[in-house]
Amino acid sequence: MNLLRIVTNDLLHLFYPNLCCACGDSLPTGVKLICISCMVHMPQTNFHLDPANSMTKKFWGRIPILQAASYYYFQKNGRVQHLLHELKYKGRTEVGEFIGQLYGDTLKESDSILNKADIIVPIPLHYKKLRKRGYNQSDFFAKGLSQSMEIPWSDTLVQRQIHTNTQTGKNRIERWDNVNEIFDLKNPQELEGKHILLVDDVVTTGATIEACANAILSKIECAISVVTIATAI
Ligand SMILES: [Zn+2]
Repeated sequence: MNLLRIVTNDLLHLFYPNLCCACGDSLPTGVKLICISCMVHMPQTNFHLDPANSMTKKFWGRIPILQAASYYYFQKNGRVQHLLHELKYKGRTEVGEFIGQLYGDTLKESDSILNKADIIVPIPLHYKKLRKRGYNQSDFFAKGLSQSMEIPWSDTLVQRQIHTNTQTGKNRIERWDNVNEIFDLKNPQELEGKHILLVDDVVTTGATIEACANAILSKIECAISVVTIATAI
């Protein structure tokens, strides 16, 4: 980079500061999205190395998934929460793609079954949130994973229904059916017999992932694994 470009870049940062997505500090010239300190200190789970990790166990008895893994642990008021906030509410979609690429590289180098998936599918966002936000943050994470893992991704094969009936006045079984109806498949034959990597930004109770996986499993024969950016401890 020549001197003029460096000076121009620094001047630009004066007006449009290039801030770390995880801690908010100014980034030095040439450093993209996340500062070195955050890259070192954000707590990685290494769940991909352990098929019976605590996140996978969270789904045992609920949905038959092969394995679940998350790149980071979520800590309240911590760097990972800040990063997710920038991704979801500040339009910094490039950080979702960047984390996807990083995690994708890690998964690709491992023997994990996650690396054997046939297709990556982000959990579709509720239409009201999509309308308000203008994008689904999980799409960018999926795209980054896809680039590193060389596995295709699709944001059209699993869709979120626009209308869901009110839950009031329904019994438990009816409510369960209703939850299953939140998600629908378009061209289900394209997912039939495949190993699907369902991805989301963060998992807390796992209810959304469970509903999405159940909707898929109720319609086709397939295997499902789950990957997220962060998981609540
Ligand atoms: Zn930082």
